[in-house]
Amino acid sequence: MDENKIKGMLWGLIVGDAFGSPIQFSGKDDHPWITEMVACPVFGLPAGHWTDDGSMAMCVMDSVVRTGGYDLKDVGNTFVKWLFEGYLSSVDGRSFDVGGATYGSVSSIRRGNLVNGHEDSQGNGSIMRFAPSYLLARALKRPEVIHEVSDLTHASRAVRNTCDELAAVLDEHLAGKRTTRGPGVELARSDVPNSGWCVETLTAALWAFNTTETFADGLVAAVNLGGNSDSIGAVYGQIAGAYYGFDAIPTRWVRAVKTWKRVDALIDRFCGVLAQNSGCGDGKEERGTKRTEKTMIGAIVGDIAGSRFEFHNRKTKDFSLLVSRGEEERCCHFTDDTVMTLAVAQAIIDWRTNGSGDMADLSAAAVSRMQEFGRRFPRAGYGGHFAHWICAEDPQPYNSWGNGAAMRVSACGWAGRTLDEVKTLV
Ligand SMILES: [Mg+2]
Repeated sequence: MDENKIKGMLWGLIVGDAFGSPIQFSGKDDHPWITEMVACPVFGLPAGHWTDDGSMAMCVMDSVVRTGGYDLKDVGNTFVKWLFEGYLSSVDGRSFDVGGATYGSVSSIRRGNLVNGHEDSQGNGSIMRFAPSYLLARALKRPEVIHEVSDLTHASRAVRNTCDELAAVLDEHLAGKRTTRGPGVELARSDVPNSGWCVETLTAALWAFNTTETFADGLVAAVNLGGNSDSIGAVYGQIAGAYYGFDAIPTRWVRAVKTWKRVDALIDRFCGVLAQNSGCGDGKEERGTKRTEKTMIGAIVGDIAGSRFEFHNRKTKDFSLLVSRGEEERCCHFTDDTVMTLAVAQAIIDWRTNGSGDMADLSAAAVSRMQEFGRRFPRAGYGGHFAHWICAEDPQPYNSWGNGAAMRVSACGWAGRTLDEVKTLV
């Protein structure tokens, strides 16, 4: 899948929500015309705060990242954590802008129910958070995931049908075809709906997309419909982001989102898990969970199996791979290869969490973690120069031709989503 379009869909949702929130609940023409990310008088918040739309989408992404795939119960429990503890809310410690149906359904999830709502549950509460579940269903090739995640809060035929319609639009956009679904210029702005009914929210978002030519122009048209403007913005953002791509979203709007680096890091990690779960995909993504995990495990097992032969050469294949203490004269143990492999893996995790994307930050994280891990395991068998490097106040490269770099890089294969990204990380 095209990562620019995927990232555009996810960031489009969050930007659209934060962009539209300041004028939600207003009539179509009784609000200031919004053209930039502005403060939200509705909730008394500075510019850039996402609401329930963004939080619930992040809950799905967070669950996928933590579980490494799809766990419906965990998605539901993450919604519970958001509603009652403010997890992934843009305001510390509390959720806000919660619709009545969502409140009731998430309360029901807390009691263990994973299908909530009824035929009258036709609000836009599941399409506003749609993109992560859609992308997960696509990666897993399990279309039922879309309805299952939607049914957590809005189990009705109307919402499922609207999810299917939105999925069809996103399918077209990921395939590079501009959708023709929904109304266009033939529908006058005065007649475009702006309610929280799922069907009308999708109609409004499609009208904004169909009557404009850029992500920015469409978002301005969408949210200024007023009414349920944050969710109209969030649905528009998914549709337009999937077509125009992340690069088309004005950078100043992305960076106006509160803690945007953290949001970007979550999206990045979510995309990584999607790539793992979709296997080789279109050929660009060359990692699958099992194979890449084995890359690191292989490095560690190789280190441990070979440890007892270091400086004790043995030219035969007739030996036990792993030997415990007391079984033979020399037993197996982990050495500097394993310690530094794990240090590099931790450094990559630190860097991804930090979210800067700057390779200099990855280098700094690697130096810090390699010194930390090296000092924690001082007798792992380091070479002389490297042992001094671990303890140095100002560690510098010392032009070694040894194999110390190659032995520790397997985590790059685990973390990189494409061959080019693996090469960059190495
Ligand atoms: Mg909202």
